[in-house]
Amino acid sequence: MKLNPLLFLFNKMKKFILYLIRWQLSTPILWLVVKQLGTSVWSTIIANLIGGAIFFWVDQFIFTSKAVEKWHLKEKGTCWECGQEGVVRRLVTAKGYDRTNHVPIFLCPICSNKKLVELKRRGISVEGF
Ligand SMILES: [Zn+2]
Repeated sequence: MKLNPLLFLFNKMKKFILYLIRWQLSTPILWLVVKQLGTSVWSTIIANLIGGAIFFWVDQFIFTSKAVEKWHLKEKGTCWECGQEGVVRRLVTAKGYDRTNHVPIFLCPICSNKKLVELKRRGISVEGF
């Protein structure tokens, strides 16, 4: 069994895509302020202050949210479960799952997929890759 690097990349890109969408949400604020106050540097500064006050909280959510899966991947490692050497991974966070402050346990793709099945059975929303 092999891991799908494209899916891993897609998983990592989710936060980036979310962040790009978030930047587009700041466009109406900039547009409204510039439309009302003109295109001066000061109106842009006011627009950015308003945007910063709103999006500080949105950005904090994007970068600390457990709703998006976070994985650690090692190209060379030893599976904690079966001892096989090679590519190993660990799920750090997912919705309803947080192992950020736990001792890192890396698993080979086979053992990791067994663990994913177990997590899904426990009701944890995890996609894997
Ligand atoms: Zn294993």
